[in-house]
Amino acid sequence: MNCIFCKIINKEISSDIVYEDDSVIAIKDINPKASVHFLIIPKKHIPSVNYLGVEDKTLMGEIILTAKKIAKEKDLRGYKLIINVGREGGQVIDHLHLHLLSGKY
Ligand code: 5GP
Ligand code: ZN
Repeated sequence: MNCIFCKIINKEISSDIVYEDDSVIAIKDINPKASVHFLIIPKKHIPSVNYLGVEDKTLMGEIILTAKKIAKEKDLRGYKLIINVGREGGQVIDHLHLHLLSGKY
């Protein structure tokens, strides 16, 4: 599959990994929109929120809990969590991901 994030997950493309477990990987965004900008990506290829099923409920919880864990580790006082959905929603990579943005650092 020609998906950049699947290639990052499979280590075919290098990235700056900040967290990884069996379900998710978190990386630094290559083109940061804030001084702190991470992407939390499920290892399962789900094209967008529009493709989520009820079977993905636990996974979505894990994604948000991963963001919380990273924010605590990085000592972020406040942050934004954003998911873009569809081209008109600003989504460019068709593999679901959560943006974690913060002004600290
Ligand atoms: P979207 O607009 O789809 O919500 O966000 C995609 C994000 O992925 C963008 O912020 C973009 O900078 C980031 N991105 C695109 N290609 C790469 C890459 O190869 N490596 C990393 N680390 N980030 C990428
Ligand atoms: Zn993918």
